[in-house]
Amino acid sequence: METVLVTGGAGFIGSHLCERLVKVGYNVVNLDNFNDFYDPTIKYSNIQSVINDSHYKLVKGDIRDTNTLRKIFDNYKIGKIVHLAALAGVRGSIEKPCQYADVDIIGTVNLLNFAAKHRVDKFIFASSSSVYGNSPNIPFKEDDPLLLQVSPYAASKRSAELFCGTYSSLYNIPMVILRFFTVYGPRQRPEMAISLYTRLIDEGMEVPVYGDGTSKRDYTYIDDILDGIMAALNIKCKYEIFNLGNGHPVQLNEMLGIIEQKLGKKAMRKYLPMQLGDVDITCADISKSRDMLSYYPKVSLEEGIERYVKWYKNNKQG
Ligand code: NAD
Repeated sequence: METVLVTGGAGFIGSHLCERLVKVGYNVVNLDNFNDFYDPTIKYSNIQSVINDSHYKLVKGDIRDTNTLRKIFDNYKIGKIVHLAALAGVRGSIEKPCQYADVDIIGTVNLLNFAAKHRVDKFIFASSSSVYGNSPNIPFKEDDPLLLQVSPYAASKRSAELFCGTYSSLYNIPMVILRFFTVYGPRQRPEMAISLYTRLIDEGMEVPVYGDGTSKRDYTYIDDILDGIMAALNIKCKYEIFNLGNGHPVQLNEMLGIIEQKLGKKAMRKYLPMQLGDVDITCADISKSRDMLSYYPKVSLEEGIERYVKWYKNNKQG
């Protein structure tokens, strides 16, 4: 079976993806530098179920390091790449814009150079709904004009998308850009809203609510995202962009209410001004993904949060 290089495979989405790939019979090489954007011990625990599988190889290293990439491409016959490694999230990017540009743009270009040289069969790039900024065209469509990104993170993702397009056209790399919309589920990054709020409510701590709680996000459950990635791995295409969202944006207040209900605890809300770089709404038009990837998200926010809270309760000691 083919070998897939997953970058960022110890993170939230990447660790689930590696498990899915190994399960269906792929060989997987996970390149991750276990950075301390959040506690690296979480990342080590994310990969426990696959670390000893003979079809899974862990390479601890950096996507910006040419020597590491050279060794990987010398040692393994990489057929496809799913490029997830990045510094993620809006807030950190406002504090450290140069680091974000370095990892998310330069790191991507470094990887694209190897993809071109070794003629991979598919390059999948993890982009983000944030590239749509505060676009007035709702729901967001893949061919909307992307006029302004409102955070360095979003600008880095958009820049990397442009490099992917250029490399695809220059070197004929079959390329898929996936724009993920607020992914959640077990192992979600600890600073993201659903995981942060669940922990704060459970521990009886104050819950910061930015704005009046009416901002909306198109929350997408991890299993649905994995279905979209797997479909993207297998479609024949030259260059395509797909939204992977749920298609049903939900207000922050409503999302908090569902967590309260599933935990059986009340949130001590503290209303604060909207944060710099945040957008009012994200909402995916998923008709193209439906048509070309047979992407039909199955997990409602209510069901997904129920699964998340169950997982949280089973794992909070560790
Ligand atoms: P994550 O932080 O959990 O995973 C990213 C992984 O990449 C981490 O394990 C990290 O150690 C690794 N990494 C970072 N810099 C690296 C480098 N220079 N070299 C090697 N490895 C490096 O994040 P996630 O939530 O799993 O997101 C995965 C991808 O999906 C990211 O590209 C992110 O921007 C994108 N995305 C995520 C969401 C979401 O809601 N989670 C939404 C849109 C886009």
